[in-house]
Amino acid sequence: MDEATSPVAARRLRLELVRSRMRELQVDALLLSHGADLPWLTGYRAMPLERLTLLVLPVDDEPVLVVPALEAPRVPDPGCAFRLRPWLDTEDPLDMAEELLRHVRRGRLGISDRAWATTVLGLQERLPEAAFVTASTVTSPLRAVKDAHEIRALRAAAQAADRVAAALQAGAIELVGRTEKAVSDEIAERLVAEGHHKVNFAIVGSGPNGASPHHDAGDRVIGAGDLVVCDFGGELVLPGDDSGYCSDITRTVATGPLSGEAADAYAVLAAAQQAGVAAARVGVAAEDVDRAARKVIEDAGLGERFIHRTGHGIGLEEHEDPYLVAGNTEPLVVGHAFSVEPGIYFPGRYGMRLEDIVVVGPDGPEPLNTVDHQLVVLG
Ligand code: ZN
Ligand code: ZN
Ligand code: ZN
Repeated sequence: MDEATSPVAARRLRLELVRSRMRELQVDALLLSHGADLPWLTGYRAMPLERLTLLVLPVDDEPVLVVPALEAPRVPDPGCAFRLRPWLDTEDPLDMAEELLRHVRRGRLGISDRAWATTVLGLQERLPEAAFVTASTVTSPLRAVKDAHEIRALRAAAQAADRVAAALQAGAIELVGRTEKAVSDEIAERLVAEGHHKVNFAIVGSGPNGASPHHDAGDRVIGAGDLVVCDFGGELVLPGDDSGYCSDITRTVATGPLSGEAADAYAVLAAAQQAGVAAARVGVAAEDVDRAARKVIEDAGLGERFIHRTGHGIGLEEHEDPYLVAGNTEPLVVGHAFSVEPGIYFPGRYGMRLEDIVVVGPDGPEPLNTVDHQLVVLG
């Protein structure tokens, strides 16, 4: 791995970008607790404990990670990137944070979007002069643009998910006669076998359950002639790295010949997804990717059956900026990574969705998922 794209070098560069954006937005310090900003900048993902973990990052001063002493051994060697300030259970970490900010201007402070309320309220009480803003104001547009290292990690995760989707489409995952839950468990096991260190979700919605986009895989036994929506993903850590990047893919398969109506709807869905991917080019507004996919479904008279946005950004989190939704006029740039996942849902009957992760490249869209987009009919 060359130095320029090593995770450590990438993080050093991110810190520079963060500081310059803090100056621009006049944010005097970032206070990063739970959430993905912390691993993005430090390689350390804090466990969601009640004990406080907080990176105090003043705009012009050395960052310090306030961390429970028993968690400190899990923090990857920071080199000179930041200092560690472990705290014992007999100490008050909010007092420490206040002390670290003593000589910092405290006009505006950025606090993690995912920080506990106890942390936010405790800090507000100790720092009454400060105005608090969400840290994402600073970090989110930066995190949305993936560097070479992150794209490599996203691609590895997508390829691992593709291998599971290919097994599904090849009929290697038995469907008919099994419950959705059993199939979901097998998909999860296969994600791990293909290199994921963590499974975030494995939605299996068969027959009428496919019409509920986030259906919890349940007791329904999959029958012959069902449409089965499988939407799954997790985190994969590249060797030599310490942060996991996410996969997220949806393929819909049929367990027998389809009605003409369903086959027609699937042809519309595939065309819509392709139109969305094709629109993912530099300078195009995020909402126009949504519009491109939606138009195909609307033109087929199925607009009311597409009940969610077309996609979401992906990285250290499954859902992050940029969101592909009407109203998001932000222009796409090289390195934006997101899902393109239109769906068509017939409540009480069946549903279908098709999802790939796509990176905006200099010469156009670069889909990371490449397994078959056609409807595979099994059995
Ligand atoms: Zn979803
Ligand atoms: Zn998904
Ligand atoms: Zn998704």
